[in-house]
Amino acid sequence: MNIHELPTPCYVIDEKKLKENLEILAGVRDRTECRILLAQKAFSCFYEYPRIADYLDGTTASGLYEARLGYEEMGEPFGLETHVFAPAFKAAEFEEIAGICDHVIFNSAAQLEKFLPICRKNGVGVGLRINPECSTQGDHAIYDPCAPGSRLGVTLENFPEHLAGELSGLHFHTLCEQNSDDLETTLAAVEEKFGKYLELPNIEWLNMGGGHHITRPDYDIARLERCILHIKETYGVQVYLEPGEAIALNAGYLVTEVMDIVKNGISTLVLDASAACHMPDVLEMPYRPPLKDSGKPGEKAYTYRLSSCTCLAGDVIGDYSFDHEIHVGDKLYFEDMAIYSMVKNNTFNGMALPAIAVMEEDGNCKVIREFGYEDFKGRLA
Ligand SMILES: *Cc1c(COP(=O)(O)O)cnc(C)c1O
Repeated sequence: MNIHELPTPCYVIDEKKLKENLEILAGVRDRTECRILLAQKAFSCFYEYPRIADYLDGTTASGLYEARLGYEEMGEPFGLETHVFAPAFKAAEFEEIAGICDHVIFNSAAQLEKFLPICRKNGVGVGLRINPECSTQGDHAIYDPCAPGSRLGVTLENFPEHLAGELSGLHFHTLCEQNSDDLETTLAAVEEKFGKYLELPNIEWLNMGGGHHITRPDYDIARLERCILHIKETYGVQVYLEPGEAIALNAGYLVTEVMDIVKNGISTLVLDASAACHMPDVLEMPYRPPLKDSGKPGEKAYTYRLSSCTCLAGDVIGDYSFDHEIHVGDKLYFEDMAIYSMVKNNTFNGMALPAIAVMEEDGNCKVIREFGYEDFKGRLA
C-alpha cells in the first residue's frame, strides 16, 4: 500500500532516508576507523537492526532492557558490540548486564567499585563517564549534563585517582543536536582536564557519546573527522561515537487523520495523534514539528491550530497554515518522527498507540506492528 492508505495514527520509517543516513555515518567510520554505535534510546525500531548492522558497530543502552534488546537483535545475531551506561545499576540486574555487554560505563566511583569484580569475571570493558564541565548548549538547559550540580559524569575534582588503573576507557556525553565545532570545544576541555588519564597505558578507548547531528545537511563532517583522528593519534586510543538522532534523523513520519474542526476564534484541528502521547518532545523540549505541505501561521491562506483527542488543554502541536482548506477525514503527515517518538509514547487518556509501518525504498508501505486495548490494559493493574 502507499502511505496514504495506512491506518492512523501510524509512525512510518522511511528506509531510503535511513539508508542515506547510515551511508554518511559509515563514511566517517571507514575514513577514521572509529566505531559508531546506535544509541537505542532515540530509536529502538529493531525491525531495522539488520539494516543498521550493515553499517555500524553495535548498540548502546541506558540500562538492562535496552541492552537486552541490542544484544538480542544486533549483538548476538550479527556479532556486534553491546554497550551500556546508566547513572546507577541495580545489583539484581548486574550479572545479566555483565553477561551481554562488551563495555559497561559507570557514572561514579562508588558504582565502579561495587561492580568491578563482576566486570572482571566477565571480561567486560570498564569505563567511567567524565564531566568536562564545558557547557556548549545555549537554550536547552534540561539537556545539558555540564550544568552546575549535574549528576551525570565525574568532574576532575571527584575523579577517583585510585581507580584510574582499573579503567579500560573514558566516556563523555555533553552534546545535543550539535555540530562538530562544539565537539572540538568540548574535546579541548576533556584533554586539558583528563588528558593525563587518556595517556595511561590501560586506557584503550574514548567514547564521545551522542548528540552529534552528523546527518544534518550543515554538519561539518571534516571537522568531526579531524577531532577523531587527533584523539586517536595523540593518545593511541579507539574512538567511539554513539549517536541516536543522527541515525534516523528525518527518516520517519507520523500520519494522522483530522477527526473534527472546532472554531473558537481560531480553527482547531482535532487529530487522532497527540503531542502529549505520541510526540512528547514537542511539549518537553519544546519544538514545533515539521509538517508536510504546511507553512508558518499566516504564511499560507488557511491557518489552523493542530491539537488532539486528549483532555489536556495544552496538548497543542502548533499552529500551521495550508494552501487549501482542511476537511474532516484529511490526513496530515508530521515529519522527522522516527526519533524520540515511539520510544517515548504513552497511553495517557487511553489514547491508542500509533501503529508502526515501514516505507520501503520503492515507496511501498507495510505495517509491521499494531497496538490495541490489550497494550493499554497490559501496563496497568
Ligand atoms: C542520549 C544519549 C545518546 C544519544 O544522543 P542523541 O542526542 O540522540 O545523539 C548517547 N549517549 C548517551 C550516554 C546518551 O545519554
